[in-house]
Amino acid sequence: MAEYLASIYGTEKDNRKHVKPTFSQTILCSNIYQNPAHDTNCNMSEEQIQAHFDDFYEDFFTELCKYGEVEEMHVCDNVGDHLIGNVYARFRYEEDAQKAVDNLNARFYAGRPIYAELSPVTDFREACCRQNENAECTRGGFCNFMHLKEVSRYLKKELFAAQRNYLREQRRVKRDKSEESRHSESGSSPPREISSERVDRDDRSREKDRKTSRRSRREDRRDSYAEDLRYEY
Ligand SMILES: [Zn+2]
Repeated sequence: MAEYLASIYGTEKDNRKHVKPTFSQTILCSNIYQNPAHDTNCNMSEEQIQAHFDDFYEDFFTELCKYGEVEEMHVCDNVGDHLIGNVYARFRYEEDAQKAVDNLNARFYAGRPIYAELSPVTDFREACCRQNENAECTRGGFCNFMHLKEVSRYLKKELFAAQRNYLREQRRVKRDKSEESRHSESGSSPPREISSERVDRDDRSREKDRKTSRRSRREDRRDSYAEDLRYEY
């Protein structure tokens, strides 16, 4: 079973079984992270090594966000040739994953060319080594299943929250623009005469809105917009 799953998820060493999908939400950047701990002359402390990794995670996550919404990003802690330093990232949309692959293959990270491809991995729980999660894997870094390197929890939270806020803002701008263009389309009729009473009432109700429910209404709209997006594909 283990070999079967490994062959499906492309984590098996045997390249003949390596499946390269035509479409996928997930990308693989091979051998990107160079863990300083693997250097035999490394005299960094645990904290310094973690900070080095966190910097890398932040850098790479920020780069990937340029191509679309990133749902997950994982870095392998394995030392075997085909998994060492691998970064797997799942995008929300397949077209963004493709965009990332196309762009990243023309780029360098830390002076080394990036090799990116679509990956069949969708469920990281399945692709990861169960024994390693229980600290029981006897194969260690040479295991053929993913052993993930953990990013600091606070950083992970911060990065994904920043992405959420950014996307929310993008949606707001997009929505405002489409509302604007709708208004300008219907704005071809000459402006109506508005009585001063009408203006007063409008001002008062606007004021009330601002004070009470404007914010929550905007948030409701945002939520329903996000809901729409969720079922787009
Ligand atoms: Zn393992």
